[in-house]
Amino acid sequence: MTMLEIVRGDITRFPAEAIVNAANKYLEHGGGVAYAIARAAAGNVQEYIRISREAMKEQLGKDSIEHGEVVVTPALRLERFGIKYVIHTVGPYCGGVWNEDKKEKLRKAILGALKKADELGVRSIAFPAISAGIYGCPLEEVVKKFKETVEEFEREAKSVERVYLVLYSEGDYRRALEVP
Ligand code: ADP
Repeated sequence: MTMLEIVRGDITRFPAEAIVNAANKYLEHGGGVAYAIARAAAGNVQEYIRISREAMKEQLGKDSIEHGEVVVTPALRLERFGIKYVIHTVGPYCGGVWNEDKKEKLRKAILGALKKADELGVRSIAFPAISAGIYGCPLEEVVKKFKETVEEFEREAKSVERVYLVLYSEGDYRRALEVP
């Protein structure tokens, strides 16, 4: 039994109580899923960057995030889909390289968001394929790490009951389903 479900969809309108952003360490939301979430949540990317950076200062007391650290921002316009929070986490930059260091950084990024979701008391959380886009980590390895990390988290989960890995393209979705 696993609480992880692999689905195809658009995370900016996925009905989970928390959605995760594959952010960069400065919460710049310059491209990819980060840009899409910022635009959908605030209507204006610059405004969501401002909100995110203010939240980072308040929650972490600094202006950048390490792997494993997370920042929470309100869902704003995404509340109409039942989304309450956006949890920003930073995955590894791979550029095609995959090794123990990348694995551990991705594990920390996933686990950090899962633990925060538990702390927030949400029952469901949806992730994009962190690091499998612009950051260039192999999709199959990212999916494998999601499976392992959610399994690890399940033993200590309190409020979280369902974890979704949301693949944006049909092709990525099919590839993800093939991962053993
Ligand atoms: P990273 O820099 O961590 O690689 P990206 O934003 O480039 O982050 O991509 C991460 C994954 O998110 C990619 O697989 C990309 O296809 C996917 N993605 C992009 N937009 C969306 C969306 N609206 N919903 C879900 N996934 C998305």
